[in-house]
Amino acid sequence: PHADPQAGAAVKAADRAHVFHSWSAQGLIDPLAVAGAEGAYFWDYEGKRYLDFTSGLVYTNIGYQHPKVVAAIQEQAGRLATFAPAFAVDVRSEAARLIAERTPGDLDKIFFTNGGAEAVENAVRMARLHTGRHKVLSAYRSYHGATSTAINLTGDPRRWPSDQGSAGVVHFWAPFLYRSPFYSENEQQECERALQHLEDTIAFEGPQTIAAIILETVPGTAGIMVPPPGYLAGVREICDRYGIVFVLDEVMAGFGRTGKWFAAEQFDVVPDLMTFAKGVNSGYVPLGGVAISAEIAATFDKRPYPGGLTYSGHPLACAAAVATINTMEEEGVVEHAARLGETVIGPGLRELAERHPSVGDVRGLGAFWALDLVRNKETREPLVPYNAAGEANAPMAAFAAACKAKGLWPFVNMNRTHVVPACNITEAEAKDGLAILDEALTVADEHTIY
Ligand code: PLP
Repeated sequence: PHADPQAGAAVKAADRAHVFHSWSAQGLIDPLAVAGAEGAYFWDYEGKRYLDFTSGLVYTNIGYQHPKVVAAIQEQAGRLATFAPAFAVDVRSEAARLIAERTPGDLDKIFFTNGGAEAVENAVRMARLHTGRHKVLSAYRSYHGATSTAINLTGDPRRWPSDQGSAGVVHFWAPFLYRSPFYSENEQQECERALQHLEDTIAFEGPQTIAAIILETVPGTAGIMVPPPGYLAGVREICDRYGIVFVLDEVMAGFGRTGKWFAAEQFDVVPDLMTFAKGVNSGYVPLGGVAISAEIAATFDKRPYPGGLTYSGHPLACAAAVATINTMEEEGVVEHAARLGETVIGPGLRELAERHPSVGDVRGLGAFWALDLVRNKETREPLVPYNAAGEANAPMAAFAAACKAKGLWPFVNMNRTHVVPACNITEAEAKDGLAILDEALTVADEHTIY
């Protein structure tokens, strides 16, 4: 990257004048002007390069500017840049086929959306129409998107300001042994107690009122809590017993992130509906969707499905998906992610946990890991309180600043940092990132109390 601070200043000035940013107090943000990106890296106009341990918002699973995907988008733009959703279009058909071939079980029909939240909205709509029931159960530790139903299903504090329309949404506790809501001492107890809690919630809500249970297969933004063995199978069984539609949200966990095409494969579970987005085409063009079981699809064989989007199955987005999936297959990206987790990232992070008093827990798989930072390993008190802002969040802010100063762009959420690089990051690049984390964690260590 070459420096061009003047160009950067112009980009920044226009941004500050006219771009209204997500989730932010507009007057308090200072967005970095980005000059370019390639693979696992991006760089600014000062010529400073960052190793991206966030994959954007955990979506560039094949890295930035993969030449095969860029070429496919260019080729499609020259051939047929757009076409309305009611028609059969070659790249749309092919993208749907490639996705359906990889989804578990009989999830063989694909409804395309522009992103994850719309996928969740439509999955819930399908479940409600299919069952004739209204309520939807979701986990407190979850993120499902920012549109009206999706934000109400979301458990994290971003839900609070948008909670008005939450009629019919009920939250419950999913398993999380490190911060167990059930006082469990091992994975098996956590699994059994979490399933009993879900049963109790259903009993008190009235099973005949519940259309769906939605869970992230491996919750992402909320902290990458890999569910204990048997939990998802248990939820599947409960759903079957009460005629509840089981929705797995694989918007973040899907398309190689956990070292399988879909995380559901890790747990040998088949949902009735599965939402996806992000990694489906690494976000080169917005795309998401719902994979639909044969039984739910049949509900809409004779009866029209009352939902649609102008850009459903947009040809540019579908061409990007076809190229992404084929490239991931050719280059073994999914297997690479699995190997990275087992041999580089997992062992590397566990080694950091041994040496740093601020690292309380390491969890994850594939290219999908979290460090739970604490003030004290015995008490497990989080390094910063839940939903901390300003001064209360200073230790995490200092940690993030230390990473950036050393050329690593970290994913930071509450008291956690997530290691979620491109799934095709090389072993050497991943190790470089871990070495920077090692240095930056000394800043977090200063805030521990022993
Ligand atoms: N579901 C999950 C699990 C997510 O992680 C996200 C985004 O981070 C969404 C849904 C929402 O997706 P989008 O931002 O594309 O609407």
